[in-house]
Amino acid sequence: MKTIEDLGDLRGKRVLVRSDLNVPLDGTTITDDGRVRASVPTIQQLADAGARVIVVAHLGRPKGAPEAKYSLAPVAARLSELLGKPVTFAQDTVGDEAASIVKGLADGEIALLENLRFNAGETSKDDAERLAFAQQLAAFADAYVSDGFGVVHRKQASVYDVATLLPSAPGGLVQAETTVLRRLTEEPERPYVVVLGGSKVSDKLGVIDNLLKVADRILIGGGMLFTFLKAQGHGVGSSLLEEDQIDTCLDYLKRAAETGVEIVLPVDVVAAEKFAADAAHQVVAADAIPDGTLGLDIGPESAALFASKIADAGTVFWNGPMGVFEFEAFAGGTRAVAQALTETAGFTVVGGGDSAAAVRTLGFDEAAFGHISTGGGASLEFLEGKQLPGLDVLDNQ
Ligand code: ADP
Ligand code: MG
Repeated sequence: MKTIEDLGDLRGKRVLVRSDLNVPLDGTTITDDGRVRASVPTIQQLADAGARVIVVAHLGRPKGAPEAKYSLAPVAARLSELLGKPVTFAQDTVGDEAASIVKGLADGEIALLENLRFNAGETSKDDAERLAFAQQLAAFADAYVSDGFGVVHRKQASVYDVATLLPSAPGGLVQAETTVLRRLTEEPERPYVVVLGGSKVSDKLGVIDNLLKVADRILIGGGMLFTFLKAQGHGVGSSLLEEDQIDTCLDYLKRAAETGVEIVLPVDVVAAEKFAADAAHQVVAADAIPDGTLGLDIGPESAALFASKIADAGTVFWNGPMGVFEFEAFAGGTRAVAQALTETAGFTVVGGGDSAAAVRTLGFDEAAFGHISTGGGASLEFLEGKQLPGLDVLDNQ
């Protein structure tokens, strides 16, 4: 893989850097700035090298037109604080204001353009429309740095097309992330334990297909556990369930048994009367979830079981909270798994936006983990062995 150094002397050059600044917001308050902090070193490096830095990013899922609640303005302010220097914010992406701000940049100065997804070309499935937007972005710059690891699995204008138009290189974050993930796909230290949870059930079930070939143990919590329980013939009340994935789960259980991979399912569950922070709840056996209740966390016995399966790991990859950790009553499983990761001597990786946020909001020291990935979907697709367009395009330059 190339590096920023391969772009040559950047002094006075205009460098377009795609960062992942897609942070959770409560109004205009950033509730977890992990991705902004992770983007700082590359932006700093470019500014220190004397480049005129044009940062581009997206926030949320606007539908190709400006929407105030998805403005990157609060992110510009935070980025400026973290960098300790001004970040000029352009209130458009490729319009007059952006053009004039870009033109006015002096060596080492930094601008952030408004949310790329305010322009339909960014995520368009139409190659020509995407390329047209990428050409407008490329016209601002002499070189391109791809540093938004969380989006490298997307074939989007600012991730993919623009790299075909300018001298390009990965930034430090993309490099660090891919180096770590490669360590998980090529000869991981064993036992290799994967912990899966969260709510994107069908997305994440897909990754098990490939993990069955490489992992030694797969621990299942979060929303996906109920489809497995159902596949085993148990009732799951009103818990999250994907009926059409039951056969997939059965197939995984069968293949795991054949190949000697251990799939560990919870033995108890915290069942609640409704989806609410103050819902009445009780711990029940995993095969006895009462009708009308929904499982919102793995139970304490399962948490201890999972911790014991993590304790002797050589490598742990964890994606997806074990329960609805946003509500304290259902945070126990997630807390126990996070704790177990901090205590094992093995190499630990946390992937997934909500999992990373959980680690931080539950008060864990980030340094206690081997690596906290900024990319959920991207890290999963990497582990699935898929080709990631935003990485391939850099390699094939
Ligand atoms: P990540 O961002 O780490 O990849 P996901 O986006 O897949 O994870 O899922 C995170 C969400 O999953 C959290 O908001 C959490 O509340 C939810 N979740 C976890 N367990 C359950 C459950 N049993 N029922 C419903 N939602 C759950
Ligand atoms: Mg998520």
